Amino acid sequence: MFIKERLFTPGPVPLPPQVIKALGQQIIHHRTPEFTQIFLEARENLQKLLKTERDVIMFASSGTGAMEASVANFFRKGDRVLIINAGKFGQRWKELASVYQLKIVDYEIEWGKTYDKERILQIISEFPDIKGIFVQHSETSTTTYHDVKYLGDIAKKLDDCLLVVDGITSVGVYQVYPEELGIDVLVTGSQKALMLPPGLSVLYFSEKAEERASKSDMPRYYFDVLKEAKKQSKGQTAYTPAINLIIALNESLKLILGEGLDNLEERHRIMAEATREAVKEIGLKLLSESPSNSATGVYSPAGIDADQLRKELLKLGFRVAGGQDHLKGKIFRIAHMGYFDFMDVVQVIAGLEMALKRIGYEIEIGKGVRKAQEVILENLG
Ligand SMILES: *Cc1c(COP(=O)(O)O)cnc(C)c1O
Repeated sequence: MFIKERLFTPGPVPLPPQVIKALGQQIIHHRTPEFTQIFLEARENLQKLLKTERDVIMFASSGTGAMEASVANFFRKGDRVLIINAGKFGQRWKELASVYQLKIVDYEIEWGKTYDKERILQIISEFPDIKGIFVQHSETSTTTYHDVKYLGDIAKKLDDCLLVVDGITSVGVYQVYPEELGIDVLVTGSQKALMLPPGLSVLYFSEKAEERASKSDMPRYYFDVLKEAKKQSKGQTAYTPAINLIIALNESLKLILGEGLDNLEERHRIMAEATREAVKEIGLKLLSESPSNSATGVYSPAGIDADQLRKELLKLGFRVAGGQDHLKGKIFRIAHMGYFDFMDVVQVIAGLEMALKRIGYEIEIGKGVRKAQEVILENLG
Protein backbone atom coordinates (compact mmCIF):
# COMPACT_ATOMS: atom_id res chain seq x y z
CA MET A 1 0.00 0.00 0.00
CA PHE A 2 1.35 3.45 -0.86
CA ILE A 3 1.45 5.68 2.18
CA LYS A 4 2.68 9.23 2.37
CA GLU A 5 4.49 9.88 5.64
CA ARG A 6 3.45 12.97 7.52
CA LEU A 7 5.60 14.22 10.37
CA PHE A 8 3.61 15.32 13.40
CA THR A 9 6.48 15.03 15.89
CA PRO A 10 7.61 17.94 18.08
CA GLY A 11 10.96 18.10 16.35
CA PRO A 12 12.03 17.55 13.70
CA VAL A 13 9.09 19.09 11.90
CA PRO A 14 7.97 19.33 8.25
CA LEU A 15 9.73 22.06 6.28
CA PRO A 16 8.24 24.77 4.05
CA PRO A 17 9.05 24.39 0.33
CA GLN A 18 10.99 27.68 0.39
CA VAL A 19 13.30 26.21 3.05
CA ILE A 20 13.78 22.94 1.15
CA LYS A 21 14.67 24.91 -1.97
CA ALA A 22 17.23 27.02 -0.09
CA LEU A 23 18.79 23.88 1.35
CA GLY A 24 19.22 22.34 -2.08
CA GLN A 25 21.72 24.92 -3.27
CA GLN A 26 25.47 24.62 -3.76
CA ILE A 27 27.48 25.61 -0.69
CA ILE A 28 29.12 29.02 -0.57
CA HIS A 29 32.21 29.93 1.42
CA HIS A 30 31.61 31.64 4.74
CA ARG A 31 34.60 34.02 4.65
CA THR A 32 33.09 36.06 1.84
CA PRO A 33 31.19 39.36 1.64
CA GLU A 34 28.28 37.37 0.18
CA PHE A 35 27.92 35.20 3.28
CA THR A 36 28.53 38.12 5.64
CA GLN A 37 25.52 39.84 4.13
CA ILE A 38 23.36 36.72 4.52
CA PHE A 39 24.54 36.28 8.10
CA LEU A 40 23.79 39.89 9.05
CA GLU A 41 20.34 39.55 7.52
CA ALA A 42 19.68 36.40 9.57
CA ARG A 43 20.87 38.17 12.70
CA GLU A 44 18.58 41.11 12.04
CA ASN A 45 15.64 38.80 11.35
CA LEU A 46 16.24 37.01 14.65
CA GLN A 47 16.31 40.38 16.41
CA LYS A 48 12.93 41.16 14.83
CA LEU A 49 11.59 37.77 15.91
CA LEU A 50 12.59 38.51 19.51
CA LYS A 51 11.87 42.26 19.28
CA THR A 52 15.31 43.23 20.49
CA GLU A 53 18.30 45.23 19.38
CA ARG A 54 20.69 43.23 21.50
CA ASP A 55 23.01 40.47 20.33
CA VAL A 56 21.31 37.27 19.21
CA ILE A 57 23.97 34.69 18.44
CA MET A 58 23.94 31.45 16.48
CA PHE A 59 25.84 28.24 17.15
CA ALA A 60 26.26 25.22 14.91
CA SER A 61 24.70 22.81 17.38
CA SER A 62 21.40 21.31 18.37
CA GLY A 63 19.35 23.20 20.97
CA THR A 64 21.17 21.54 23.84
CA GLY A 65 24.37 23.32 22.78
CA ALA A 66 22.78 26.70 23.45
CA MET A 67 21.44 25.33 26.75
CA GLU A 68 24.99 24.36 27.70
CA ALA A 69 26.23 27.82 26.66
CA SER A 70 23.63 29.36 28.99
CA VAL A 71 25.07 27.51 31.96
CA ALA A 72 28.75 27.85 31.00
CA ASN A 73 28.77 31.61 30.35
CA PHE A 74 26.63 33.39 32.91
CA PHE A 75 27.44 31.69 36.23
CA ARG A 76 30.28 31.02 38.61
CA LYS A 77 31.02 27.65 40.15
CA GLY A 78 29.02 27.20 43.30
CA ASP A 79 26.30 29.71 42.38
CA ARG A 80 22.91 28.66 43.70
CA VAL A 81 20.24 28.23 41.03
CA LEU A 82 16.61 27.22 40.99
CA ILE A 83 15.57 24.60 38.43
CA ILE A 84 11.92 24.37 37.45
CA ASN A 85 12.09 20.65 36.83
CA ALA A 86 8.82 19.56 35.26
CA GLY A 87 9.86 17.13 32.54
CA LYS A 88 12.63 15.69 30.42
CA PHE A 89 14.00 19.10 29.42
CA GLY A 90 13.75 20.50 32.95
CA GLN A 91 15.91 17.53 33.94
CA ARG A 92 18.37 18.57 31.26
CA TRP A 93 18.80 21.98 32.93
CA LYS A 94 19.46 20.15 36.16
CA GLU A 95 22.03 17.83 34.59
CA LEU A 96 23.85 20.74 32.95
CA ALA A 97 23.84 22.76 36.19
CA SER A 98 25.27 19.75 37.97
CA VAL A 99 28.04 19.19 35.39
CA TYR A 100 29.06 22.86 35.77
CA GLN A 101 29.07 22.58 39.56
CA LEU A 102 26.21 24.88 40.38
CA LYS A 103 24.31 24.47 43.68
CA ILE A 104 20.90 23.23 42.70
CA VAL A 105 17.54 23.94 44.25
CA ASP A 106 15.54 21.29 42.44
CA TYR A 107 11.85 22.19 42.26
CA GLU A 108 10.51 18.90 40.97
CA ILE A 109 7.04 19.05 39.54
CA GLU A 110 4.75 16.21 38.54
CA TRP A 111 4.90 15.75 34.75
CA GLY A 112 1.99 17.50 33.09
CA LYS A 113 1.75 20.26 35.68
CA THR A 114 3.23 23.74 35.85
CA TYR A 115 4.87 25.42 38.86
CA ASP A 116 3.01 26.81 41.84
CA LYS A 117 3.54 30.55 42.39
CA GLU A 118 3.37 30.27 46.17
CA ARG A 119 6.02 27.59 46.15
CA ILE A 120 8.33 29.86 44.11
CA LEU A 121 7.90 32.63 46.69
CA GLN A 122 8.70 30.17 49.49
CA ILE A 123 11.83 28.98 47.71
CA ILE A 124 13.20 32.47 47.09
CA SER A 125 12.54 33.54 50.67
CA GLU A 126 14.40 30.45 51.83
CA PHE A 127 17.26 31.00 49.33
CA PRO A 128 17.53 34.76 48.67
CA ASP A 129 21.02 34.22 47.16
CA ILE A 130 19.66 32.47 44.07
CA LYS A 131 21.67 33.56 41.04
CA GLY A 132 19.53 32.02 38.33
CA ILE A 133 16.12 30.54 37.60
CA PHE A 134 16.03 27.93 34.83
CA VAL A 135 12.79 27.01 33.10
CA GLN A 136 11.27 25.72 29.87
CA HIS A 137 8.78 28.17 28.37
CA SER A 138 7.20 25.15 26.74
CA GLU A 139 8.19 21.77 28.23
CA THR A 140 7.92 19.58 25.14
CA SER A 141 8.10 16.23 26.94
CA THR A 142 4.86 16.96 28.80
CA THR A 143 3.47 19.56 26.32
CA THR A 144 3.22 22.02 29.21
CA TYR A 145 3.35 25.81 29.13
CA HIS A 146 5.10 27.62 31.98
CA ASP A 147 4.41 31.31 32.61
CA VAL A 148 7.81 33.02 32.32
CA LYS A 149 6.65 36.60 32.94
CA TYR A 150 5.98 35.81 36.60
CA LEU A 151 9.46 34.36 36.98
CA GLY A 152 10.91 37.38 35.17
CA ASP A 153 9.34 39.68 37.77
CA ILE A 154 10.75 37.53 40.58
CA ALA A 155 14.24 37.50 39.06
CA LYS A 156 14.18 41.29 38.78
CA LYS A 157 13.34 41.66 42.48
CA LEU A 158 16.24 39.50 43.58
CA ASP A 159 19.68 40.93 44.13
CA ASP A 160 21.53 39.39 41.17
CA CYS A 161 19.43 36.72 39.54
CA LEU A 162 19.10 35.78 35.85
CA LEU A 163 16.05 34.20 34.30
CA VAL A 164 17.26 31.55 31.84
CA VAL A 165 14.57 30.28 29.48
CA ASP A 166 14.58 27.32 27.15
CA GLY A 167 12.33 28.65 24.41
CA ILE A 168 13.08 25.83 22.00
CA THR A 169 9.40 25.06 21.46
CA SER A 170 7.99 28.48 22.31
CA VAL A 171 9.89 30.84 19.99
CA GLY A 172 7.94 30.70 16.73
CA VAL A 173 4.80 29.48 18.48
CA TYR A 174 4.24 32.35 20.90
CA GLN A 175 5.39 35.93 20.79
CA VAL A 176 8.50 35.65 22.93
CA TYR A 177 9.97 39.07 23.59
CA PRO A 178 12.67 38.64 26.25
CA GLU A 179 12.81 42.31 27.18
CA GLU A 180 9.06 42.42 27.90
CA LEU A 181 9.07 39.10 29.74
CA GLY A 182 12.15 39.77 31.88
CA ILE A 183 14.18 36.97 30.30
CA ASP A 184 17.96 37.33 30.64
CA VAL A 185 19.04 34.34 28.58
CA LEU A 186 16.81 32.76 25.93
CA VAL A 187 17.69 29.81 23.73
CA THR A 188 16.04 28.15 20.79
CA GLY A 189 16.87 25.56 18.15
CA SER A 190 16.29 25.11 14.45
CA GLN A 191 14.31 21.87 14.14
CA LYS A 192 11.25 22.99 16.08
CA ALA A 193 9.12 26.07 15.39
CA LEU A 194 11.79 27.65 13.17
CA MET A 195 10.92 24.99 10.55
CA LEU A 196 14.50 24.01 9.69
CA PRO A 197 16.55 20.81 9.90
CA PRO A 198 18.46 20.30 13.17
CA GLY A 199 21.93 21.80 13.63
CA LEU A 200 21.49 25.48 14.45
CA SER A 201 20.90 26.98 17.88
CA VAL A 202 20.22 30.56 18.89
CA LEU A 203 20.98 32.44 22.10
CA TYR A 204 19.83 35.87 23.29
CA PHE A 205 21.33 37.48 26.41
CA SER A 206 20.46 40.64 28.30
CA GLU A 207 22.77 43.42 29.45
CA LYS A 208 22.64 42.01 32.96
CA ALA A 209 23.65 38.59 31.61
CA GLU A 210 26.49 40.18 29.65
CA GLU A 211 27.94 41.64 32.83
CA ARG A 212 27.78 38.26 34.48
CA ALA A 213 29.50 36.59 31.51
CA SER A 214 32.53 38.85 31.92
CA LYS A 215 32.87 37.62 35.53
CA SER A 216 32.25 33.92 34.97
CA ASP A 217 34.93 31.41 36.01
CA MET A 218 33.49 28.52 33.99
CA PRO A 219 35.53 26.75 31.31
CA ARG A 220 34.27 27.27 27.76
CA TYR A 221 35.76 27.21 24.30
CA TYR A 222 33.36 26.71 21.39
CA PHE A 223 30.38 28.01 23.37
CA ASP A 224 31.98 31.32 24.33
CA VAL A 225 29.12 33.79 24.10
CA LEU A 226 31.10 37.05 24.37
CA LYS A 227 33.67 35.94 21.80
CA GLU A 228 30.90 34.95 19.37
CA ALA A 229 28.87 38.09 20.01
CA LYS A 230 31.80 40.25 19.04
CA LYS A 231 32.43 38.32 15.82
CA GLN A 232 28.80 37.88 14.90
CA SER A 233 27.95 41.57 15.22
CA LYS A 234 30.31 42.00 12.27
CA GLY A 235 28.75 39.20 10.25
CA GLN A 236 31.33 36.52 10.96
CA THR A 237 31.60 33.56 13.34
CA ALA A 238 34.61 32.33 15.28
CA TYR A 239 34.32 28.87 13.69
CA THR A 240 32.64 27.47 10.58
CA PRO A 241 28.94 28.35 10.77
CA ALA A 242 26.04 26.12 9.66
CA ILE A 243 26.12 27.94 6.31
CA ASN A 244 23.16 26.32 4.57
CA LEU A 245 21.01 26.36 7.68
CA ILE A 246 21.60 30.09 8.05
CA ILE A 247 20.64 30.63 4.41
CA ALA A 248 17.50 28.57 5.03
CA LEU A 249 16.82 30.44 8.28
CA ASN A 250 16.39 33.62 6.27
CA GLU A 251 13.69 31.85 4.25
CA SER A 252 11.80 30.55 7.28
CA LEU A 253 12.07 33.90 9.06
CA LYS A 254 10.77 35.62 5.95
CA LEU A 255 7.67 33.41 6.23
CA ILE A 256 7.32 33.90 9.98
CA LEU A 257 7.81 37.66 9.94
CA GLY A 258 5.66 37.93 6.82
CA GLU A 259 2.75 36.23 8.57
CA GLY A 260 3.14 38.64 11.49
CA LEU A 261 4.01 37.47 14.98
CA ASP A 262 0.52 38.09 16.36
CA ASN A 263 -1.03 36.05 13.52
CA LEU A 264 1.56 33.34 14.03
CA GLU A 265 0.68 33.04 17.72
CA GLU A 266 -3.04 33.05 16.93
CA ARG A 267 -2.68 30.31 14.29
CA HIS A 268 -0.86 28.05 16.74
CA ARG A 269 -3.44 28.76 19.42
CA ILE A 270 -6.26 27.73 17.07
CA MET A 271 -4.45 24.59 15.85
CA ALA A 272 -3.73 23.53 19.43
CA GLU A 273 -7.22 24.34 20.66
CA ALA A 274 -8.87 22.46 17.79
CA THR A 275 -6.68 19.44 18.58
CA ARG A 276 -7.39 19.56 22.30
CA GLU A 277 -11.15 19.92 21.84
CA ALA A 278 -11.20 17.13 19.25
CA VAL A 279 -9.34 14.59 21.38
CA LYS A 280 -11.57 15.38 24.36
CA GLU A 281 -14.61 14.88 22.13
CA ILE A 282 -13.27 11.44 21.19
CA GLY A 283 -13.15 10.67 24.92
CA LEU A 284 -9.39 10.94 25.48
CA LYS A 285 -7.65 12.80 28.28
CA LEU A 286 -5.02 15.52 27.87
CA LEU A 287 -1.65 15.04 29.54
CA SER A 288 -1.09 18.63 30.57
CA GLU A 289 -3.01 20.80 33.00
CA SER A 290 -1.34 23.84 31.42
CA PRO A 291 -1.17 22.86 27.75
CA SER A 292 1.35 24.42 25.39
CA ASN A 293 0.33 25.39 21.87
CA SER A 294 3.44 23.78 20.38
CA ALA A 295 2.28 20.18 20.80
CA THR A 296 -0.56 18.29 22.44
CA GLY A 297 0.08 15.32 24.71
CA VAL A 298 -2.76 12.84 25.04
CA TYR A 299 -3.25 9.75 27.22
CA SER A 300 -3.96 6.60 25.29
CA PRO A 301 -7.35 5.13 26.32
CA ALA A 302 -7.37 2.49 29.10
CA GLY A 303 -6.16 -0.88 27.84
CA ILE A 304 -4.55 0.55 24.71
CA ASP A 305 -0.77 0.88 24.58
CA ALA A 306 0.10 4.32 23.22
CA ASP A 307 2.99 2.90 21.22
CA GLN A 308 0.65 0.35 19.57
CA LEU A 309 -1.65 3.21 18.70
CA ARG A 310 1.30 5.13 17.24
CA LYS A 311 2.16 2.13 15.07
CA GLU A 312 -1.42 2.05 13.83
CA LEU A 313 -1.21 5.78 13.08
CA LEU A 314 2.02 5.25 11.18
CA LYS A 315 0.32 2.65 8.98
CA LEU A 316 -2.02 5.46 7.95
CA GLY A 317 0.90 7.80 7.32
CA PHE A 318 1.01 9.80 10.55
CA ARG A 319 4.19 9.85 12.62
CA VAL A 320 3.44 11.20 16.09
CA ALA A 321 5.74 11.15 19.12
CA GLY A 322 5.43 8.92 22.16
CA GLY A 323 6.06 9.53 25.83
CA GLN A 324 9.44 9.55 27.54
CA ASP A 325 10.49 7.74 30.73
CA HIS A 326 7.48 6.78 32.86
CA LEU A 327 5.07 8.14 30.23
CA LYS A 328 6.34 5.68 27.60
CA GLY A 329 3.46 3.61 26.25
CA LYS A 330 0.98 5.83 28.11
CA ILE A 331 0.85 8.96 25.99
CA PHE A 332 1.36 10.23 22.47
CA ARG A 333 2.14 13.75 21.29
CA ILE A 334 0.90 15.59 18.21
CA ALA A 335 2.93 18.64 17.13
CA HIS A 336 1.55 21.94 15.90
CA MET A 337 4.94 23.47 15.14
CA GLY A 338 6.31 23.23 11.64
CA TYR A 339 4.85 23.80 8.21
CA PHE A 340 1.23 23.32 9.33
CA ASP A 341 -2.08 25.00 8.85
CA PHE A 342 -5.61 24.35 10.13
CA MET A 343 -6.45 21.55 7.71
CA ASP A 344 -3.43 19.55 8.90
CA VAL A 345 -5.19 19.37 12.26
CA VAL A 346 -8.34 17.99 10.66
CA GLN A 347 -6.24 15.42 8.85
CA VAL A 348 -4.35 14.13 11.89
CA ILE A 349 -7.55 13.91 13.95
CA ALA A 350 -9.16 11.90 11.12
CA GLY A 351 -6.15 9.57 11.20
CA LEU A 352 -6.34 9.27 14.98
CA GLU A 353 -10.00 8.26 14.86
CA MET A 354 -9.31 5.61 12.23
CA ALA A 355 -6.30 4.24 14.11
CA LEU A 356 -8.33 4.05 17.33
CA LYS A 357 -11.14 2.24 15.54
CA ARG A 358 -8.74 -0.25 13.97
CA ILE A 359 -7.11 -0.98 17.30
CA GLY A 360 -10.46 -1.79 18.92
CA TYR A 361 -11.42 1.42 20.71
CA GLU A 362 -15.12 2.10 20.56
CA ILE A 363 -15.52 5.31 18.67
CA GLU A 364 -18.02 7.11 16.54
CA ILE A 365 -15.94 8.03 13.50
CA GLY A 366 -16.06 11.70 12.55
CA LYS A 367 -16.91 13.06 15.98
CA GLY A 368 -13.46 14.47 16.65
CA VAL A 369 -13.04 15.72 13.10
CA ARG A 370 -16.32 17.58 13.38
CA LYS A 371 -15.21 19.16 16.65
CA ALA A 372 -11.93 20.29 15.12
CA GLN A 373 -13.78 21.75 12.16
CA GLU A 374 -16.15 23.59 14.49
CA VAL A 375 -13.33 25.12 16.53
CA ILE A 376 -11.55 26.22 13.35
CA LEU A 377 -14.76 27.69 11.90
CA GLU A 378 -15.46 29.64 15.11
CA ASN A 379 -12.01 31.14 14.90
CA LEU A 380 -11.84 31.86 11.19
CA GLY A 381 -13.75 35.12 11.68
C1 LIG B 1 13.95 19.65 21.48
C2 LIG B 1 14.12 20.35 22.76
C3 LIG B 1 15.37 20.52 23.36
C4 LIG B 1 16.63 19.86 22.89
O1 LIG B 1 16.98 20.16 21.68
P1 LIG B 1 18.05 19.32 20.85
O2 LIG B 1 17.97 20.10 19.60
O3 LIG B 1 17.55 17.93 20.75
O4 LIG B 1 19.34 19.44 21.54
C5 LIG B 1 15.46 21.24 24.52
N1 LIG B 1 14.38 21.77 25.09
C6 LIG B 1 13.15 21.62 24.56
C7 LIG B 1 11.98 22.23 25.26
C8 LIG B 1 12.98 20.92 23.38
O5 LIG B 1 11.76 20.76 22.86
